[in-house]
Amino acid sequence: MSSTPIASGSGTPAAEPRTQSEAEIYQRLRAHLGFLKLADAAEALPRILDEARTAKLSLVDGLEKLLAVEVDATEDRRLTSRLRFACLPAPWRLSDFDYTAQPGVDQALIRELATLRFIEEGANALFIGPPGVGKTMLAIGLARASAEAGHRVYFTTAADLAARCHKAAIEGRWATMMRFYAGPRLLVLDELGYLPLAADAAAALFQVINTRYANGSSTIITTNVGIGAWATAFGDPIVAAAMLDRLLHHGVVVGIDGPSYRLRSHQARAEALGTGAEVKP
Ligand code: ADP
Ligand code: MG
Repeated sequence: MSSTPIASGSGTPAAEPRTQSEAEIYQRLRAHLGFLKLADAAEALPRILDEARTAKLSLVDGLEKLLAVEVDATEDRRLTSRLRFACLPAPWRLSDFDYTAQPGVDQALIRELATLRFIEEGANALFIGPPGVGKTMLAIGLARASAEAGHRVYFTTAADLAARCHKAAIEGRWATMMRFYAGPRLLVLDELGYLPLAADAAAALFQVINTRYANGSSTIITTNVGIGAWATAFGDPIVAAAMLDRLLHHGVVVGIDGPSYRLRSHQARAEALGTGAEVKP
């Protein structure tokens, strides 16, 4: 970048173009950025030009600063759109998880999952445990981390998937629905086994899992049903076994068998009442 002042258009006297031709070049530069739809760079142009002049930046440094503004803004927009698509039901992050409150969880395993290598490998994760132990929280934390790392993520419950597939079958949109669930790099299927699965729902679930297995896309499942009970819990035992086979071929099982976090405050109250200690509301 030239050390002679360049038109910045910021309005301050120092930033005013010195010559007619500088003003024309500045306007053309803004027009180029506008034509290329680099709106954030166009908006930042006066500021970057001022900075470049003040710090006597080279042309390379100035250009890098200008384009970095556009890259950052584009990344922000893409992340916002990935998060909107992901439909995460809570803003939880992995860092919000309190391991001391849940000694039943294998912290090293969660840290390994948090590297997101499992997504590169197309591996799955099954969170198995009773209600309230943090299965959904960990699944959401991993989903958010994946979206932030640039992956396309979608969160749904098993009941919702079953209902949407049922409706799609009736309306002749089955193939479209299957393509939808096959698409995301990471699919989170929450609360499998909380409600009984009808035979058509189990078949839909199997097809989703089978397609994703064939594509090498990762699925995270949270369930209260231990692996040994899958055959009886999900309708047809053969379908259940085939589903488990796909899930576990490249998969890790995270068993969480600790106290319910939801019941903690109730337990604390009960214990406090039992000892006659003061109970905070
Ligand atoms: P699950 O899916 O196993 O039923 P959730 O993930 O929904 O349990 O957790 C229940 C509630 O307890 C949520 O509000 C969650 O944020 C909180 N929770 C559970 N475990 C922890 C933990 N270890 N640290 C912090 N909050 C937790
Ligand atoms: Mg849950």
